[in-house]
Amino acid sequence: MDKEMLIAQKNEVEEKGFLDLDIDPSLDLFAEIERLKKEKNAIILAHLYQEPDIQDIADYIGDSLGLAQKAAQTDADMIVFAGVHFMAETAKILNPTKKVVIPDFKAGCSLSESCPPPLFKKFREQHPDHIVISYINCSAGIKALTDVICTSSNAKAIVESFPRDQKIIFAPDKNLGAWINKETGRDMLLWNGACMVHEIFSLEKITRLQVRHPNAKLISHPECEDPILRISDFVGSTTQLLAYTKQTPHKEFIVATEAGILHQMMKQAPDKTFIPAPPDNSCACNDCPHMKRNTLEKVYLCMQYEQPEILMDEALRLQAKKSLDRMLEISEQAGLI
Ligand code: SF4
Repeated sequence: MDKEMLIAQKNEVEEKGFLDLDIDPSLDLFAEIERLKKEKNAIILAHLYQEPDIQDIADYIGDSLGLAQKAAQTDADMIVFAGVHFMAETAKILNPTKKVVIPDFKAGCSLSESCPPPLFKKFREQHPDHIVISYINCSAGIKALTDVICTSSNAKAIVESFPRDQKIIFAPDKNLGAWINKETGRDMLLWNGACMVHEIFSLEKITRLQVRHPNAKLISHPECEDPILRISDFVGSTTQLLAYTKQTPHKEFIVATEAGILHQMMKQAPDKTFIPAPPDNSCACNDCPHMKRNTLEKVYLCMQYEQPEILMDEALRLQAKKSLDRMLEISEQAGLI
């Protein structure tokens, strides 16, 4: 490819977040993506909130913990991360020598953005006797200011690995932090961040659904607000919610997390009924607009042209990696890996 074309592509990725190229509509994208996987020794890691087509073409589908572990273990040359930016960045932190591409560079995260590193640095400096535990949904800048990262799957184990009298700052999700405080009897200092998807579930509409479906179990992600968690029958990470719906004898569920997870729930338990919990707006279900920026077309284009690529400053990467390594160590000791 000539230099001019490369510059044009780089500019387009910067402006739009992806290469906006026409794709022949007769192309079998599933077959093309499989071909590119072999040709480039690439692996597709997809979050459970991705659209069904992307989940179906992925080599591994999981939540943040599972995806971070897979990213740390893979021997592929290229990681295609179908998720949001902080997740692809995490894969790059753990795999500096591998090429990490993301279908849409502008797939961000409201939760991650609610915790800007310069502000958080000041907050941390105001509490020098506290250690910092941060939820993985944060930028590399926050990871670099953190002692241990956690996910919603391992947060309790990570917090409980510290003595009860250890003062802890928990960032960036105040709802997950409050839930962990309740579960562990701790009093962690919480950063005031939240996820735009999980904080808009409507208590009123969910209650109405429960009246109409008296046998349905309400299952929720701990990023939801406390009033939703209080009336939930089961609270867990996306992987834990998935496992629960498969293993429990119950047949009907109201699911209070991003609606993308219903695809795997229906695949793994086709005889059961899943009702997406409604948000406090005119939509019937709750999609993350950041996760849903990724499409099958963008997956194909990012594999074909190997961009948008995640690149990182090495000093920042090394500092951020310490908190991730600590999480993987503690998770291993706690038997979570
Ligand atoms: S669902 Fe919430 S936490 Fe997850 S990527 Fe979207 S905005 Fe971020």
